[in-house]
Amino acid sequence: MPPSPVAAAAFDWIFFDCFNTLIDDFDDAGEEHGLGSLPELAVTLGLFPAPEAFVAAYLSARSLPADGREILLPERLGRVLAASPAALDPRAIAAVVPEFLARWEEDYHRLIRPTPGVQEMLMHWSARKPAAVISNFFLPKQPEEYLRRFGLHGHFRFVVDSADFGYRKPDPRIFLHAIERAGLAPADAARILFIGDRNDLDIQPARTLGMQVLHFDRSRAGRRVQPAAADVRAIFDWADFR
Ligand SMILES: [Mg+2]
Repeated sequence: MPPSPVAAAAFDWIFFDCFNTLIDDFDDAGEEHGLGSLPELAVTLGLFPAPEAFVAAYLSARSLPADGREILLPERLGRVLAASPAALDPRAIAAVVPEFLARWEEDYHRLIRPTPGVQEMLMHWSARKPAAVISNFFLPKQPEEYLRRFGLHGHFRFVVDSADFGYRKPDPRIFLHAIERAGLAPADAARILFIGDRNDLDIQPARTLGMQVLHFDRSRAGRRVQPAAADVRAIFDWADFR
C-alpha cells in the first residue's frame, strides 16, 4: 500500500528522533546495540570467556531504570565489567573503562552515516517548518555533534538528548521538555509531527501526548526492528515525506 501523503498544513513543527531516523547506526546484522568490537576487546583482555558472554552481560546491565532516567555509557560499561568472571574490583574497573570508551568511540564513528535521502528531505522541510531533534543517547551532546559532523545540524532549532536532559524516551518528560523549548504548551502537542523509527520509544509516547506521528519504518532497510503498527502512518523512504 503506498504511504499516504503528509498534509503540511496540518502541523507547525516537526520533531525527529535521531538514530536510525536521521543518522543510521545499525550494523551489518541490523543490530543497534552498538557494541562494535568491545566484546572482542573484553575477551582479549581476559575479562570474558567469549564475545557472547560480554554481549549478554551488556544487555542485562543496560536494562534501564523504570523511572525513565538515562544511564551514561561509562556507567553501563562499569556495570558490565562488574559482571566479569574475572571478578574485578572497582579500581580495576575504573582503570579499564577508558580503554573500552576509546574503542567504542573509534568503532562508532566508523559506523554512523546519514540515513539515505535525509539531506534532501531536510532541505525540503527546513524551508517550510521549524524542526527539532529528541534523541536517546548515552553520552551528552553527542547527537548534536554527529548531526554537525554530517552537515545536518543547521536544519534544527534545537537538539535534546537524554544523556544531557537526564530522562530518556519513552518518558514523557523529555517530550514535554522539547515542547517547551519549541515555545509551545502541552495542549499544543497536536501541532507537532513526531517522526521516529521505534514504535515503543517514539511513536507510542508521542501519540499518547497528542502529537501527530509518522513512523519511519526501517524494517526493509536491513534494520532488525518491529515494523510500523497497522494504524500508524508509515513511510519506508525519505523520498515519501514531502
Ligand atoms: Mg531511533
